[in-house]
Amino acid sequence: MTGPVLILGGTGEARALARQLVDAGVAVVSSLAGRVRDPALPVGEVRIGGFGGVPGLTDWLTEHRPTAVVDATHPFAQQISRNAAAATTQAGVPLLALRRPQWQPETGDSWIDVPDIRAAATEVGRRSRRAFLTTGRQDVGAFAAQADTWFLIRVVDAPTADLPPHHELLRSRGPYDVAGERELIDRYGVDHLVTKNSGGSMTSAKLTAARDAGVPVIMVRRPALPDGVAAVDSVDAAVGWVAQLR
Ligand code: NAP
Repeated sequence: MTGPVLILGGTGEARALARQLVDAGVAVVSSLAGRVRDPALPVGEVRIGGFGGVPGLTDWLTEHRPTAVVDATHPFAQQISRNAAAATTQAGVPLLALRRPQWQPETGDSWIDVPDIRAAATEVGRRSRRAFLTTGRQDVGAFAAQADTWFLIRVVDAPTADLPPHHELLRSRGPYDVAGERELIDRYGVDHLVTKNSGGSMTSAKLTAARDAGVPVIMVRRPALPDGVAAVDSVDAAVGWVAQLR
């Protein structure tokens, strides 16, 4: 193996992968979009900011000649995953997607499955008077026109998009626990939880709390990976994939 492994990051899995590869003596460059003001930084080399679309990422790959790219971005970060698929094909660099497993409904859950964030907003308007919105800062704008629903909006950084007229903004960062999530549901009289199917344990307590409280969940389905991209669902499997490139 000659060049570093480029990790497209912004997730806990990306940081764990950087840690394991560095510990195994593999050079990494982790790439962050630069959206969060105070990001948790991975070990090893880090670059921050967009590449400039497919042409910019292709140029970066051509210049730095990484051994491989691991797309460990968030399951809902669609654009960078599409760009990675196109640019690695053009530059002839192996690509792997690392995606944590999706959440699955359990006995007692009441999930309303929707294909995208717009459909989630429509369902909220149809069903909910007091919604707990946990879809992230970038998706809040989709709910701005929902004037008949009051929202508890939880975000890490303050959103810049228009917000629905009736809301309270709660700034916090996970991980969360079930008791705390249940307390929010009860205190604010939440009747629906809205979330993307991000998967992972950092933010899954809200699902248990909603189940216990009998609160239905409007669950936004994950977008598909670009065609032909190989994928694994654990950091260990990604480490194994990198090892077999040697
Ligand atoms: P996106 O819509 O897929 O990407 C938009 C643009 O942001 C990309 O075209 C790219 O700019 C830049 N970008 C995204 N990820 C990048 C990375 N890791 N390194 C360098 N540039 C990157 O992405 P997003 O949904 O805005 O998410 C941005 C970042 O936040 C991702 O890294 C993701 O892992 C993390 N994140 C996203 C979510 C979510 O719900 N979407 C949740 C938690 C964390 P150029 O075209 O200029 O290269």
